[in-house]
Amino acid sequence: MSTDNLVALSADPTAVHELAPYKTIEADELNARIEAVRKQLGESLLILGHHYQQDEVIAHADLRGDSYKLSQTAADSEACKTIVFCGVHFMAETADILANRPEKLAERNGRRIDVILPDMAAGCSMADMAAIAQVEAAWEDMSEVIDTEKVIPVTYINSAASLKAFCGRHGGIVCTSSNAKAVIEWAFERGERVFFFPDQHLGRNTALGMGIDEPQMPVWDPYALELGGNTEQAIESSRVILWKGHCSVHQMFRAEHVHAFRKQHPGIKILVHPECPREVNDLADVSGSTGKIIQTVQSSEPGTKWAIGTELHLVNRLKAEHPEQEVHFLSPVVCMCATMYRIDLPHLCWSLENLRDGAIVNKIEVDDETTKWSLIALERMLAVK
Ligand code: SF4
Repeated sequence: MSTDNLVALSADPTAVHELAPYKTIEADELNARIEAVRKQLGESLLILGHHYQQDEVIAHADLRGDSYKLSQTAADSEACKTIVFCGVHFMAETADILANRPEKLAERNGRRIDVILPDMAAGCSMADMAAIAQVEAAWEDMSEVIDTEKVIPVTYINSAASLKAFCGRHGGIVCTSSNAKAVIEWAFERGERVFFFPDQHLGRNTALGMGIDEPQMPVWDPYALELGGNTEQAIESSRVILWKGHCSVHQMFRAEHVHAFRKQHPGIKILVHPECPREVNDLADVSGSTGKIIQTVQSSEPGTKWAIGTELHLVNRLKAEHPEQEVHFLSPVVCMCATMYRIDLPHLCWSLENLRDGAIVNKIEVDDETTKWSLIALERMLAVK
């Protein structure tokens, strides 16, 4: 779903409280009212805060983490009746799929956990770069040149549920930024080629680390007229077909930023997320998921100097939490997740007070068929060691 469509959906007709008045309330009052609802609803409410979320929202989160860890932990909570996901749309979908999967429903005698996204306009630019109709059209197009029975589709967890379901239906799998290598190895045990979407950089950086050369990784442009803008020969000789998608945040980091930091701060270490372009990833001292980035800083010697290439809020939080180290943001320009930033105190307070008063606004509910096939792709991922 495009962000434009999501914006149109942000006025929820089920609301008993209008959103507009909340936008004029001072932060102190919003904080107090949010805490009052949290106290009143107790353990039945779980507020999840993604690592890239702004601090004033994170302050109200029961759990902080990456999207998969948050969804999984919330799904295992016995007392939880409602999840308020302070992240982006695909994360709330994953939470709904995991929290309401058949065995969890059976444990709760059929009771569903409602999942709320405080602002429906909180989408993900990367996820929006691969619509299911485009992926299905690409699959059909490539089947004219190669045998798609031998192609394993792999979707990054940062994708719509419909793409996860596509992978489930076609013998494919989901990956996260921490298990992408193991997942691609799993895929090569089952097929000749991998079709990786929506993030070309994670796919490319991971496959390069596995010894696959860039010429064996054509990029599929869904807007090109034929074969994603590739020749038949390029598709026939491919090992990993990369979708032309990227994260608008991590795409901003450049090789010149790395060179500038190394020149100005001798001894500094470069720590980046694998959603960064190859030129940055290749130059980095350490590349890894948000979890690995946090753990690397936490476990380093006092006085270590870091320039970190990931979302701004996370880097600023690491800087505040680790005064014993020297933490810099790798880019001179602001790289923050603008869509996640849409979840603010007014939207959080509005969704919580509606919940308290019996209205579930901005509910995210994935249909049964999509849930079934998404779960198959997610369970394959969980089985990968
Ligand atoms: S940081 Fe990038 S991949 Fe993550 S939610 Fe924002 S736009 Fe999507």
